[in-house]
Amino acid sequence: MIENVYIAPVAGPEIESGYIRIEGDRIAELGAGPAPGVPDGTARIDGTGCLATPGLVNTHHHLYQWASQGLAQDATLFEWLTALYQVWAAMDAEVVHGAATAGLGWLALSGCTTSSDHHYVFPKGRGDLLAAEIEAAREVGIRFHPARGSMDRGQSQGGLPPDVVVEELDDILTATAEAVDAYHDPSFSSMLRVAVAPCSPFSASAALMTESAALARAKGVRLHTHIAETMDEDEHCVKQFGLRPVDYMEQLGWLGPDVWFAHTVHLSDGDIGKLAATGTGSAHCPSSNGRLGAGIARVSEMLRRGANVGLGVDGSASSELTPLAGEMRQALLFQRARYGPDALTARQALELATLGGARNLGRAGELGSIEPGKLADLALWRVDGPFTAAVADPVCALVFGPPPPLARVLVGGRSVVEDGELRTVAQDEAGRAGVAARQRLLRLAEERGFTAAKEVHPET
Ligand SMILES: [Zn+2]
Repeated sequence: MIENVYIAPVAGPEIESGYIRIEGDRIAELGAGPAPGVPDGTARIDGTGCLATPGLVNTHHHLYQWASQGLAQDATLFEWLTALYQVWAAMDAEVVHGAATAGLGWLALSGCTTSSDHHYVFPKGRGDLLAAEIEAAREVGIRFHPARGSMDRGQSQGGLPPDVVVEELDDILTATAEAVDAYHDPSFSSMLRVAVAPCSPFSASAALMTESAALARAKGVRLHTHIAETMDEDEHCVKQFGLRPVDYMEQLGWLGPDVWFAHTVHLSDGDIGKLAATGTGSAHCPSSNGRLGAGIARVSEMLRRGANVGLGVDGSASSELTPLAGEMRQALLFQRARYGPDALTARQALELATLGGARNLGRAGELGSIEPGKLADLALWRVDGPFTAAVADPVCALVFGPPPPLARVLVGGRSVVEDGELRTVAQDEAGRAGVAARQRLLRLAEERGFTAAKEVHPET
C-alpha cells in the first residue's frame, strides 16, 4: 500500500493526496485520501512528498554501446557508424553482459521499468550475445524487450557496414526464430518479449526486411528498425531504391500496428499520415538526434494527427549518459523550440515516456498508466527536496527540471530501486561492470588495429 502520495496516473485525473493498493504484481485500486481499511501485515510505503507515475518505458536502445561511449564525438551518423563498426566487431558476450548490466541499472535509476534493446551486431564466434544481455536484464529486474537485430548488407553489397560485422540471411532468420522460441513470453505479466529488428535500410537487404516481417508475423511478435534518422539516409534510399524511407518500408510491408520505428525524424506530411493511418509507432530519441545533429522529429504534429510516439534513450555511444527521465524534458524543449510554447505540455511529455512507450511495445493493456488491473510498475519521485519543493506542480518539477531523486521504482510490485539506490544488484558493481566492458572492448579492438585515442581527439 502506497499512501499519502501525489498520483499522476497518465490515464485518468490526477490525485493530490491518495493511495495505490498493490496485490501480487498488479495494481488493485487507487483513490484519494487515506487508504481504507488496511489489513494487518500489509507492506506500507509512505509516499509523503512523492509523485507517483507509471514506470517509464524505453523503446529504443543499444545496450552494448555502453562500452563505446565518448568516441567520434563530432561526427555525422554515417561517419560515426563507420568509425564504430570496427570497435563493435570485437565485442563478445562478456562485453555485452557488463555493458547491459550498467546500462539497465542506469535506466532503472531514472525511473525506467521496461526497456527494449535493439542488438544488431553479431560478429562470428564471440559467444551468445543475446543470452548475455537477457541474463543482465534478469539480474537488474526490469522488464526486457530485446529486439534481435541483424545486418546482411555489407559494403560489398552497397551497404554501409564492413562485411566483417554482417551475417548471412539464412543464419539471421534461423537465429532470430530460435531466439523467439527460446525467450519470448507473451503472457500478461511477461518480463521478456522478443522482437524482430533488421538494423536499417542502409545495412539490411530488402529480402531481409520482408523475410523478417514474415517471420515476426508467423511468430506473433513485433517488428522494429531505424528509419528516417538523417538526410544522408533519405538520399541513400532515393539513390538505391528510388523511394524515400517511409515509402520504401511501405513497399516492404513494414507499416502496421505491430511495427515501431526508431527516430522518424525526416517525415513529410504524407509520411506522418501513413504512420497514423496504419498504427505504426515511433521511438523519439531527442538527445541522440541532437548529439548527432540529425534533426528533430515532428512529434507535436505526429501526436496531433494520431500517430503514436514513445521515447528512447538510443545507444549510449550516441547519447552517452542520457537518463530516460531526462528525455521528457529534451522532447518538450525541442518541440517548443521548433513550434512554440504550446507544442508539448509536461503531461504530454510524461505520456510519451509511459503510455506512448507501452503502445510501441504492444503492451498498453498491461503497462503505461496507473489503473486497476495493470501491472504494478511504478516510479515514486521525491519532489519535496529543498529545491524541487518550491515548484507548485510536481509533474512540472519532474518534466521541466532535471529528474528528481527516486524514492522507489517498483516492477510488478517488487522494489528495484529504493532511496535512489539499486536493490536488485549492487550498484557499484553494476557501474564497474560497465567500465570493465569498455576496457575489454577497447583492448579487443586495439588488438585488431583500432586506435581509440584518434577517435576521441581526432585533430591531435
Ligand atoms: Zn538506434
